[in-house]
Amino acid sequence: MRDAMLGVVFWEGRLVDSCQERADGSLLLTLSEDPSHRPRCGRCGSDCVLLHERRRRRVRDRDWFDRHVWLDVPIRRLDCYQC
Ligand SMILES: [Zn+2]
Repeated sequence: MRDAMLGVVFWEGRLVDSCQERADGSLLLTLSEDPSHRPRCGRCGSDCVLLHERRRRRVRDRDWFDRHVWLDVPIRRLDCYQC
């Protein structure tokens, strides 16, 4: 249940760029930001946010059948004007 919640968080507002099979049989999905999805504050839900920093992070997603799945996701750090 908790893993499923995490998946939702990482997938929200993102598109799959590429899917790659790695040497150990796991899958690596590279995600990019969906340009039509506006960034919003995770605390108050306001979209009055300032993009603070951009980086990429590799996270483990739910297994896909017997495969381990990794996501390479863009992470945005936001500053909120409201809170
Ligand atoms: Zn806020």
